[in-house]
Amino acid sequence: MLGGVFLTLLLLQWRFPLRRQYFSALRRLVRNFVLSIPGFAVVRLAMLPIPLAIAVWAQDRHVGLLNCLHLSRWIAFVVTFLLMDYAYWWWHWVNHMVPLFWRFHNVHHTDLDMDVSTAARFHFGEMLFSTAFLSLAVVFFGIAPIMLLVFFITFEAATLFHHSNWRLPIGLERILNLILVTPRMHGIHHSIVQRETNSNWGTIFCWWDKLHRTLRRDIPQNEITIGVAAYRNEEELTLGKLLALPFRQQRPWRLPSGQEPDRTPQPADKLAE
Ligand SMILES: [Zn+2]
Repeated sequence: MLGGVFLTLLLLQWRFPLRRQYFSALRRLVRNFVLSIPGFAVVRLAMLPIPLAIAVWAQDRHVGLLNCLHLSRWIAFVVTFLLMDYAYWWWHWVNHMVPLFWRFHNVHHTDLDMDVSTAARFHFGEMLFSTAFLSLAVVFFGIAPIMLLVFFITFEAATLFHHSNWRLPIGLERILNLILVTPRMHGIHHSIVQRETNSNWGTIFCWWDKLHRTLRRDIPQNEITIGVAAYRNEEELTLGKLLALPFRQQRPWRLPSGQEPDRTPQPADKLAE
């Protein structure tokens, strides 16, 4: 199913591109794909089975918030999505703010263009931390196994969607960006300008960023430079170097020239095409 979503988005972003791409799409696709292989192994061997086993255990023993509340199935379904997506909002924020986690999440952000393949570009170390986070969230909230499965698939589909370089028709964008994190929003999160990166932390719903006043929609897509300011040299972003990146000395958030990256601010909160 997720493979189908990936191929559909690949087609849509090729047919209706959102941002200009500066680097070879094929080379990035291959690199992101190979980098994702150990990550996929972690997902298959740990990220799915461990939290699922915990969800079964918690359900049997009535451990966790939702397992104690006895809500109707539909209410529990809605509450699961809201709680889990909001918990992931915080987890994403933590991945940027805690230096140890940023070492790994940095690998994801060093992609020099962003498209649907960026959604697979995660260091397997980040996936391991993520497994621990998900397990804790599942036991704390008492998420039912079937709900966890539905949430997980939706979460992955949303991740594919907002990383894609698909230019949504503007009418659809105006409706969707009241509810979901769209490719335009997430593009701003991948900007080399730090205050733009420090916005749009959401995965499925954009409401948490509204709540925390971190939602930005005011940056025109073609003014965004995708990536991390200090890691702009393609030759430093080969597979081996990316896998080793978390264990190397981290560079400050500056351009290789030492300058702070910047762009001219636009009038606030207008939906920029
Ligand atoms: Zn991020």
